[in-house]
Amino acid sequence: MTHSDGYTTETIIGLEVHVQLKTNTKLFCGCSTTFGAAPNTQVCPVCLGHPGALPVINEQALEVAIKAGLALNCHIPEMTKWDRKQYFYPDLPKGYQISQFDLPICAEGYLDIALEGKGDGDRRIRILRAHLEEDAGKSMHDESAGQFDTRIDLNRCGTPLLEIVSQPDLRSSQEAKAYLNELKLRMTHLGISDCEMQEGSLRVDANVNLHIHVDGKKIATPIVEIKNMNSFRAVERAIDHEIDRQYDAWEETGKTINDESKTTRGWDDQTGRTFLQREKEESADYRYFPDPDLLPVRISKERIEDIQNSIGEMPGEVRERFQTQYGIKAYDAEVIVNQGRDFIDLYEAAVAVCGDGKRASAWFQQDILRTINEQQIATADFPISGNALGILLLKITNGDLDNSRARDVFQHMLDHGDDVDASIDALGITAVDSSELEGLCRDLLSENPHVVEDYRNGKQQAIGSLIGQAKKRNPNANPKTVRELLLQIVETL
Ligand code: ZN
Ligand code: MN
Repeated sequence: MTHSDGYTTETIIGLEVHVQLKTNTKLFCGCSTTFGAAPNTQVCPVCLGHPGALPVINEQALEVAIKAGLALNCHIPEMTKWDRKQYFYPDLPKGYQISQFDLPICAEGYLDIALEGKGDGDRRIRILRAHLEEDAGKSMHDESAGQFDTRIDLNRCGTPLLEIVSQPDLRSSQEAKAYLNELKLRMTHLGISDCEMQEGSLRVDANVNLHIHVDGKKIATPIVEIKNMNSFRAVERAIDHEIDRQYDAWEETGKTINDESKTTRGWDDQTGRTFLQREKEESADYRYFPDPDLLPVRISKERIEDIQNSIGEMPGEVRERFQTQYGIKAYDAEVIVNQGRDFIDLYEAAVAVCGDGKRASAWFQQDILRTINEQQIATADFPISGNALGILLLKITNGDLDNSRARDVFQHMLDHGDDVDASIDALGITAVDSSELEGLCRDLLSENPHVVEDYRNGKQQAIGSLIGQAKKRNPNANPKTVRELLLQIVETL
């Protein structure tokens, strides 16, 4: 980017993404990982860090982590091990986090991303590593007037996380967002994580700095790690703010860099600014060392192959298949697939019944997506089944319903929970007798001589104005049939 005073800069972004793995139990004990339970009810001596309690690795977490690594094109090394990361915080009762330091479970992968509307992956973002670690608890601050009370809920302590670290390959906030979208899509598609930022099952830290080109030389601003962003939109805004802030800071200090050390800044969504949290924090500060309570894990080639074979279709493959199997455009396939696994399944269930992928694609992108957005529901909670949607669409294909009547039926199904036939009955939709329809058309033509006149003068479209009128007199009149009848009758007048 070129700034108003003529200097060119490059934005350097690396993302650290923590995703909470979907497992029944915690990483090193048998406690439940279910979200939303009463505080401190899902704990035991292991995750509370009681002396003498010993951790045992959760096989399901290993499985899911390997699956995630393969979905991110990572190499899965034959051996992985556990390390203690020491730090003090009230929500970390052991005084250390069990994590992975030098031998992570996933190494060197990549993710191909596409900026919106550009089709499938034209930028490759390298992934440095992805390691397994346990989560900490949650501090709950009571900020009501006069209260300075903090309570701690340790239910989340020991929940499995996969920390996915990208190389600093991202060059703009838009690329960062595209990367996060693709990452989330893959993780949710394979059932690896819910990736709900609101529930904390996906958390993003962004490392941002600038390369400023001055007199043929490149000056790097100190790296800032931004934390506390609670949506992908917030990540985008925080990065854009940070780019401006670092550039301004460089200008204000007389275009020199005095301190190269990394700092951590928080994001304030209200003010749209980042603020200083911590200075100078290096990995050596954590005093990592191998956890003596846990054996290293060996992962056989056969096991990796088995997991690879269990993965099935990835989102990119589904996009391609939709184009060939259902004849829909690349853009349409992208919109549907990018909504996630539940949406894909709902769409395919409807197509299986109605047999018309294109019609279903149009309905899913308009009516169904609009309903989901308006009602702010998850696709999994969509009130109409794929089968029922298929039956509805089939009625359009068979000519039993026109599009606008089908929309009435769809709305009735949403409002009342009736099935297709019950909704058609409730709305009083009946097939209109052809002689009745013909009578209606004759009436309209004789009442509107100017339309007949216009038609004879070569204005074919004049007929169109009568279709709306026919619909008003009899809502069950099929517009297509009405048009055909009008054209037939007007020729005989
Ligand atoms: Zn426990
Ligand atoms: Mn971490």
